[in-house]
Amino acid sequence: MPESRGTVLEIHLGALAHNYRELRARIRPETRFLGVVKAYGYGSDAAAIARKLEALGADYLGVAFTDEGVYLRQQGIRLPILVLHPQPGDLGTLIPHCLEPSLYSPRILERFLQVAAASGQEDYPVHLKFNTGLNRLGFKAEDLPALAETLRGSRNLIVRSVFSHLAASDDPGEADFTRGQIQAFEEIVSAVRSEVPGAPFFHLLNTSGVLNYPESQWDMVRCGIGLYGYSNDPKTDARLRPVARLLTRISQIHDVAPGEWVGYNKGFQAGEARRTATLPIGHADGIGRIYGQGAGQVLIGGKTAPILGNVCMDMTMVDVTGISCREGDEVEFFGDVRSAEAFAAGAGTISYELLSGLSRRVPREIIPE
Ligand SMILES: *Cc1c(COP(=O)(O)O)cnc(C)c1O
Repeated sequence: MPESRGTVLEIHLGALAHNYRELRARIRPETRFLGVVKAYGYGSDAAAIARKLEALGADYLGVAFTDEGVYLRQQGIRLPILVLHPQPGDLGTLIPHCLEPSLYSPRILERFLQVAAASGQEDYPVHLKFNTGLNRLGFKAEDLPALAETLRGSRNLIVRSVFSHLAASDDPGEADFTRGQIQAFEEIVSAVRSEVPGAPFFHLLNTSGVLNYPESQWDMVRCGIGLYGYSNDPKTDARLRPVARLLTRISQIHDVAPGEWVGYNKGFQAGEARRTATLPIGHADGIGRIYGQGAGQVLIGGKTAPILGNVCMDMTMVDVTGISCREGDEVEFFGDVRSAEAFAAGAGTISYELLSGLSRRVPREIIPE
């Protein structure tokens, strides 16, 4: 990183390629792979990630909301894109951008049928989402007969796939619960095969599902966090590589006398003489106040420096007492040495939240493979 750069989020596409191959190696070669790039590619750079996944041979991309899919189309992405959570108001936007909606409720199916009919679509590809226990989004199994009848009566839509989502695929303590979800999905699969026209394909597994229940991969898997280098499992994490590395530089160093305070609202008081470093990154960049009071720790020259007091909007102060460092030195929040998962764990949260919460203000630097 050149000295002129302050805060930067490096995006390592070589790590993405490595993780893609690691995940692919755990599924059958003919199983399709959907790369999840919602939330700006888990806070990295959705277009750069999508372009690389396209080059690597992914079959599908997945986003949460319609505008995330529109953005990828505007960036020239050609892969099929599944929109997991479209809203009634943007169903008209999906079609001109060739985005494929997940239809998850009678209301959204009804609305999309109207939109597809009004624009004269024939066999527009859609995906049906079923609830098997997460109780978040999805049709219930008992909706199927009515649903199948509606679909048999429409020439506007074709069901490309049918899917569900696991609630605790990362938790070995919940294996019985997960097996119950898998069985519920099996029943939906056989009912769909006999009742729903169009010979749809099936998918259930996210990253942890691929790692822990690969026998239930059906025809496609949907991986997000694993692509970015995290897996909810320390042993697998060791085989993956973090895509994102968050770096900054020391703006100023202070010697703080005993009894003095540091930061807003006297967040920290020096009991004895302390050296502090002020960093140009704060909660507006996605390092929330939950990381204050020592919950977050950064690395400076390989040494651990805890965050002092309260994280400010644009700045964070860390304790560098006893650490040899100077103004302008590089600081790592997370990356190869210390993972985003470890940084997040200090504040009782998870890599998903830390990564996806990094704000657009942090400059992204794409490092090619
Ligand atoms: C976010 C999401 C995924 C990806 O999950 P990871 O744990 O990040 O692999 C897969 N499927 C659905 C429906 C999702 O919402």
